[in-house]
Amino acid sequence: MPPLDAITAYHNDMTSWRRDIHAHPELGFEETRTSDLVAAKLEQFGVEVTRGIGKTGLVGRLRVGNSPRSIGLRADMDCLPILEANTFGHRSTDKGKMHACGHDGHTTMLLGAARYLAQTKDFDGTVHFIFQPAEEGLGGASAMLDDGLFERFPCDVIFGMHNRPGLAIGKFQTRPGAMMAGGAYFDVTVTGVGAHGARPESSVDPVVVASQIATALQTIVSRNVRPVETAVVSVTRFHAGQAYNVIPDKAELGGTARCFSDQVMSLVEERMRRIVESVAEGFGAKAELDFRVLFPVLMNHSDEAQFILDCAAELVGEENVNRSMVPTMASEDFASMLRAVPGAYIQIGNGDGEGACEVHNPGYDFNDAALPYGSSLFVKLVEKRLDRLTG
Ligand SMILES: [Zn+2]
Ligand SMILES: [Zn+2]
Repeated sequence: MPPLDAITAYHNDMTSWRRDIHAHPELGFEETRTSDLVAAKLEQFGVEVTRGIGKTGLVGRLRVGNSPRSIGLRADMDCLPILEANTFGHRSTDKGKMHACGHDGHTTMLLGAARYLAQTKDFDGTVHFIFQPAEEGLGGASAMLDDGLFERFPCDVIFGMHNRPGLAIGKFQTRPGAMMAGGAYFDVTVTGVGAHGARPESSVDPVVVASQIATALQTIVSRNVRPVETAVVSVTRFHAGQAYNVIPDKAELGGTARCFSDQVMSLVEERMRRIVESVAEGFGAKAELDFRVLFPVLMNHSDEAQFILDCAAELVGEENVNRSMVPTMASEDFASMLRAVPGAYIQIGNGDGEGACEVHNPGYDFNDAALPYGSSLFVKLVEKRLDRLTG
């Protein structure tokens, strides 16, 4: 029986797990109930569980045969601080927290695959089921890496998937190379000399200096980044002063930078630092830049991207697979894992047409119809990569 059919037999079970997780959302590094649930299910399937990798993260290990080959499959477990607008039965029971990015579905799809693989054992090698905490900007992937994820659970290759509203159920898309943008946050602190608002000659006005800096930063994308590359530098915060008649001694700017290569990210950071420090110096003020790369560029390795696309095509037909997806400016911290081990990330359709609500929206819900497709793709990756015949 092909995996899709076998896994379709679990569809009702998977739907109830998914809705249970949806109703009990947990923020990054607080996923205790979720990781308890995942651990209990994995153990019940006969998968060996190690807890506490990256605080609330966990890894399931399933070894069959003697082959030294291994594969890692990763799902994320955290929710977002959003007040859910949905009124259906499985809506969030914890006000202000919500599974608005579909990580409830990702976790469920990986659990479905674990159940199938532990039952059928039709492969030769080791599968690591990686359940990651805190994907939404809190660094869950790095926390797992810091806890020795790939030293303790070596993987030849790793794969992950994210749902995509607007893409029909049963469709998949990705691309080799850069798929999702790298993202950085920055803060600039300008220190001048405060004075009476009526005596500017006694001041070094940080408001004026910070304004010049904000304007000069706009030239990085227009004058320094090659026109054929893509980058964003947005100043989204500007704070200074309290009173009408006081020139403050400090001004603070903050914002975000996005791009598709490490070189461009380094260029943006280097140009920012130069502009921030030199503009301030020109006015007799001091300025400091704190530039933090939170998400590296998500780079799919070519062979693995080809492999996951081929597996998807076997499952749903070539006509339902887009091999040259347009890259997205959104970021994803699976990118950090892909820096350590070759692999690829893929998008799975969450449904199109009416009701295809975007992620991070209070009306979003993971589409349970996608569950068997995602689980089946995870299974196919394992059975093809750890094929008994080629072992
Ligand atoms: Zn998200
Ligand atoms: Zn997400």
